[in-house]
Amino acid sequence: MTKKQANTPISRRKFLKTSTMAVTGTAIAYGAVSVPLLRSDKLFLRPPGALDEKLFLASCIKCGQCLQVCPPQVIELAGISQGFGIGTPYITPRHGGCILCSGLPCVLACPTGALNHDLSLGKDAEMGLAVITNPDTCLSVRGINDLVYRLENLQKKSASSPNSTELKEILASLIKKLTQDEKKAWQNKFALSDISDNALLSILKQSENVDLKWIINFAGSCGQAQKACQVCLEECPLKDEKPIVFINKTNPDTGKKYVWPSVRKTCVGCGVCEEKCPTPAASVKITARLKWSEKQADNETRKDNLT
Ligand code: SF4
Ligand code: SF4
Ligand code: SF4
Repeated sequence: MTKKQANTPISRRKFLKTSTMAVTGTAIAYGAVSVPLLRSDKLFLRPPGALDEKLFLASCIKCGQCLQVCPPQVIELAGISQGFGIGTPYITPRHGGCILCSGLPCVLACPTGALNHDLSLGKDAEMGLAVITNPDTCLSVRGINDLVYRLENLQKKSASSPNSTELKEILASLIKKLTQDEKKAWQNKFALSDISDNALLSILKQSENVDLKWIINFAGSCGQAQKACQVCLEECPLKDEKPIVFINKTNPDTGKKYVWPSVRKTCVGCGVCEEKCPTPAASVKITARLKWSEKQADNETRKDNLT
């Protein structure tokens, strides 16, 4: 090695990669990967880059570094109640999906490479796959607009004093989707000075009891309401990769038309769609570790069994 080479600082990723190989190699040498594992049918959704489950369990030293650097704080450590892999990190999508944040800090922070340091882009994460598990409740399939649905639910819960945080969140989404004319109608109703998003949202400060009935009628009649829910795609951190597309279908028995959210190969199973799905129980759920190719093979087998 030349003096120059000896003095060249190695990159953090390269250092981590080297140390990963060393730790994994040591684990294998000492038979750590054959440590008997308590069995469970349920697979945890692991942070991005997690090695195959057995190797992951052998390599993870339960240090919690990944959890500490995660900006949205979506990583938890398994407790005794989880039954196996105690102390290992996992994500509960309904509580908060992984946003595949830039640079994948959890991966960089992992000292052993249990989260594989070869992974540098969220779009290559392969954590699992989104599956439409409850098509009967899916608003897209039912042709229902998500914002109108959420406003109506808010009204059912408490029309006189709806949850202000939730109402603000819904109105902010609605306002972003209004046309100029619709914004003007809103401005006239509440005598607002202009039609900026902030001005429209200021109706929440005007009085204690916002006119929820008027807002629901308004939301139900505006152009946006004609569109059925697409929240899973809208909130997806990889939406430009089109991991979900909405396909027009017809029920062969009833002839009824509906829209089916079809999950594509570019889905990495981050869980944000499950977190954000507006139905009471998520209509889309993540199957941890499921790969697109396996799902396709499963679909083909089902088709063969039906013919
Ligand atoms: S990539 Fe996901 S799990 Fe990792 S730090 Fe970012 S949000 Fe957290
Ligand atoms: S940083 Fe790595 S070793 Fe530490 S708990 Fe997370 S996955 Fe395990
Ligand atoms: S569809 Fe998008 S949000 Fe849902 S799991 Fe796949 S990548 Fe994540």
